[in-house]
Formats: sequence, C-alpha cells, structure tokens
Amino acid sequence: MIVALKPGVEKEKQEGLVSWLKSLGLDIHVSAGQYQTILGLIGDTSKIDTELIESLDIVDSVKRVSETFKCVNRKFHPDDTVIDVNGVKIGGGNFCMIAGPCSVENPDQIVEVARAVKSAGANLLRGGAFKPRTSPYDFQGLGKEGIELLKIARKETGLPIVTEIMSVSDLPLFEDVDVLQVGARNMQNFDLLRELGSFGKPVLLKRGLANTLKELLMSAEYIMASGNDNVILCERGIRTYSDYLRNTLDLAAVPMLKELSHLPVIVDPSHATGIARMVPPMALAAVAAGADGLIIEVHNDPIHALCDGAQSLKPDEYAVLSKKIEAVREAIK
Ligand code: PEP
Ligand code: MN
Repeated sequence: MIVALKPGVEKEKQEGLVSWLKSLGLDIHVSAGQYQTILGLIGDTSKIDTELIESLDIVDSVKRVSETFKCVNRKFHPDDTVIDVNGVKIGGGNFCMIAGPCSVENPDQIVEVARAVKSAGANLLRGGAFKPRTSPYDFQGLGKEGIELLKIARKETGLPIVTEIMSVSDLPLFEDVDVLQVGARNMQNFDLLRELGSFGKPVLLKRGLANTLKELLMSAEYIMASGNDNVILCERGIRTYSDYLRNTLDLAAVPMLKELSHLPVIVDPSHATGIARMVPPMALAAVAAGADGLIIEVHNDPIHALCDGAQSLKPDEYAVLSKKIEAVREAIK
C-alpha cells in the first residue's frame, strides 16, 4: 500500500503517522520526492482502514499496490534512484560505462585494459576474479589474487571496480570492492541476495538466463528488503531460439523495467550476443531504448583471452563505439 502525503507536510506530523503505522506491525519505506513524500507500507495491510488514513489532513491519497515487489516498485519511489559509486553516479540521467575483460588474468592485462577503457570514456572497470564457468576444466578465475589486481588497476586509473561474487563465503574478500556483481546464474541465490542486502555495497544484479522480469525484480526486492537500496538491474540476454547468437537480448525489458521500477537498468551486449561484431549495434540499440548504462567486455588481446575472447572488443573498437554511444545519447535527449 502507498500513502502519498500532501506537499510541504510538517516533519513532526509525518513522523507521527510513520510511528503509528509501524505500531500496526508494518515496515515503512519513506521516499521523499521532489514534490511529494510517499510512504510505502510493507507487510499485512489487509486490516488497514484505508478510509481512515485517507481522512487525515496530511494525506493526499492511499492506494493498494497489487504487485508483489514493493521496495523496487516505482509506485513506492516515483523518482529514479541514483546510485553513487565513489563519486560516479548511475541512474536518473547519469549514464554509466562499465568496461573491462571478462576475467582478470595478470597485472599487465588488467592495468593496460583499465587505462585503455578509461581513456575511451569508461567510468567503471569490470573484471571477473571468481568466474562461473560451464565446464569445471575451464579457467575459473584468479580468485582472491584477481581482486587484488583489480585494486591495483583502480589505483592506477581511479576507476571504481565491479566484480562478480559467487558465494556468500567469499564476502570478506569483497570489503574493498566498489560494486558487487551477481551473475545470471546466481540471480536466484536468495541466501546470497539477502547477505548482499546487509553488506550494503552497490549490487549489479544480472537477469538469469531463463528468468522473467518479475523474477528479476523479486530478486532485487530481496536485496532491498534486507536494507540495501543500491541495486542496478542488468539485462544480459536470455535463452530463446537464438542459434547464431549466444543469447537473445531482450531490449524491451529496458523500458518495461524502468516503468515498473525506479532502479537503474543497464545492458550487457557482450554476453547477450557472444560475438564482438554484434556488440556495437546492440549497445547502440540499448542506449536508444533508454538504458542507464552499458557493461561491455574489452580485452587487449582477445584471441588469447582466457575467457570470452570471441565477444570481447579491442580497446580501439571500444573507443570508436564510445563516440557513437555519445552521439546516440545526444540524439535521444
Ligand atoms: C560476466 O559478466 O562475466 C558474466 C559471467 O556474466 P553473466 O552472469 O551475465 O553470464
Ligand atoms: Mn564474460
């Protein structure tokens, strides 16, 4: 249920209403918008007398929210959420360019790629240290050492780092990571999502290979309901009938997610297509569809990459794409 307050309500009166609602056993999510404050009521609201609340002089309107996702719901928070990652803002018109290799391989590789993507316009560095590989015989990532190398690259370039967490037990290693990525395969690892809620650092939540938008939003709800409002949603392609492409990029998910939720929505055209030359057109299409950012795999030597070389752009290709992204952003302003 949402309770919209009249503009300019006195703080004391608002607090009085919030504590009364809390005394009824509800959790209250307060969203102070530009024009109006919205109280999101979470819990069993079936016995709440909506007419009584509506009759209060500070209340503008009361509406029941039928969707099962509450905290992530735009009805609870009409303004776009803006996430601040060490000064880099994501959402609410702030476009993020996350780029870097699929996996961190060695110090030279990660620092070279970090420098190159930074000079091409990226504002966050990606790189997997813990890799979810289909085969147990493939490169599994450098683990703890990979995170240390990302920190070196951050020191060299100033770019905040984004890296994937696969297991709750690894969380202590992520204390100094800027954005924790939850990969497609872990989207419904509810224990992990809950822990990330209390961990408090920004989370990049990727849509599962065969998950609906509602399921993605419910996974984000787990994180938010556990106390962390900093969630970025990511469309990275789903399994359909694609034969020549790794996945099917569901671009309509972007405007739909942005309608349903206030959270930033970004797109990963690398995993969506699996082919480097398909990345630029889909990246530009994602920008045109209203994405709040892109996460793109870039490698200094794709042919010898230990993971996902076929879908990795070379730094100069990323630089060319970056200019076109600017142009599309300008065109749709
Ligand atoms: C990745 O970003 O390297 C990755 C494994 O992505 P996804 O979880 O989308 O497959
Ligand atoms: Mn990858």
